[in-house]
Formats: sequence, C-alpha cells, structure tokens
Amino acid sequence: MSRILVVDDEAPIRLLLREAFETNGYDVVEASNGFEAVRIFREGEIDLVITEIIMPEKEGIEAIRDLKKIDQDVKIIAMSAGGRLEPHFYLQMASKFGAQRVFQKPLSITFVLAAVKELLQ
Ligand SMILES: [Mg+2]
Repeated sequence: MSRILVVDDEAPIRLLLREAFETNGYDVVEASNGFEAVRIFREGEIDLVITEIIMPEKEGIEAIRDLKKIDQDVKIIAMSAGGRLEPHFYLQMASKFGAQRVFQKPLSITFVLAAVKELLQ
C-alpha cells in the first residue's frame, strides 16, 4: 500500500485529502507545516508528498527543497490558493523546485487522485 504525506496547515484540507486517499486505498500521514513534513519524511516509507505552499513555521517551497535534498526522486504535488500573490506564482515556484504536479485551490479531488495514481505507477 502506498503511503501519502499530506501537508497543510488547514485541518479541513487535510481531512478532505485523507478521506479521498483512504477511500482509494492509500495510507495517509499528516503534517501541518514544512518542519513536521521534513521530520516525518526523514523517518521514511513515504511514497508521495502533497503539500500546501503557505504555512507557518516552514512553508512549502522550503519544504520541497529540503525533501529533494533528502531524496531527489521524491514525488511531490504542490497546491495553493495564493497569498499575497496569485496562486500560479507559488505553483510555478513549486514546479521549479521539484513538484511534479501542481494544483490551484479549491482542489478538484478527481484531478488530484488522477495525478497521485499516475505518479505512483
Ligand atoms: Mg495555508
């Protein structure tokens, strides 16, 4: 069973993704910021990371850079509703630093699931 690390500071988003992934047979681990995400990732056994960009403590771009240093083949999906800037700005940055797929919020769960399935093939 593939294990997905869901990283978002908003609990309702984590819950939404957890339910969608578990329903589709994936194992889910949660983190609420980049620090937690990197710590959990280091413990191993994570097949894919889906991360928000704007979070307290450590934001998503920095987390993506750290994850890539730990494992350059890490599979990463980034998501953003934007912040001070439009979402596409953050998502372009995420792609540049190694996210293979990016999604603007509000999320289309169908598209997210399709991307997860494709990346984990
Ligand atoms: Mg956020």
